[in-house]
Amino acid sequence: MIEPIDPVRFIGNRSSGQQGFALAEAAVGAGARVTLISGPVTLPDPPGASVVRVETARQMLEAARAALPADVFVSAAAVADWRVEAVSGQKLKKGARGAPVLSLVENPDILAQIAATSATRPRLVVGFAAETENVVENAKRKLSRKGCDLIVANSVAEGSGTFGGAENEVHIVTASGAESWPRMSKPEVARKLIELVAARLGSAQ
Ligand code: C5P
Repeated sequence: MIEPIDPVRFIGNRSSGQQGFALAEAAVGAGARVTLISGPVTLPDPPGASVVRVETARQMLEAARAALPADVFVSAAAVADWRVEAVSGQKLKKGARGAPVLSLVENPDILAQIAATSATRPRLVVGFAAETENVVENAKRKLSRKGCDLIVANSVAEGSGTFGGAENEVHIVTASGAESWPRMSKPEVARKLIELVAARLGSAQ
């Protein structure tokens, strides 16, 4: 059990959570039983999903493992790659010694770990890839590195409007190729993705 922490300052990744919440909503709409594991965002719980709120990558991994077995695992969270090694019990004050030196350790890769679970591996493991360049190529590499079945890749390059925006333009990357979808709203991306997931599950039976 990882102790809950209540940090004053922390390292995180920028994410509004909109795409992940839209996916949970679309999956509920399609009739799935959904567990949404969310980091700190300001969005309300999607109706019909069972929601687990976490604050750290390790808590998220623990919650994801606890939610297995599942047919599908979709990893849309922008998990921080690093965390500070020693969390201070007190607020770090500005002092005469200047900028603090923070020692960082790597967070678990939740997607890779869930994809590598042997007995309880979900039949379909879907990851996201936010890239600033060579979007599809980098996503293909990520697909094999993380051991997942499908990567939803999007560009978060300057001017793309993806971060915090209402729309997304994604490329669906699998071992057999890549397909680019036109720009559409995040709920539309979610619905199309859930349709695709359902079709893949159906054809694998
Ligand atoms: O390697 P990168 O962070 O770009 O990969 C993105 C994908 O990996 C996303 O699906 C994200 O949710 C997942 N991820 C994870 N655990 C991490 C870092 C990323 O599950 N520590």
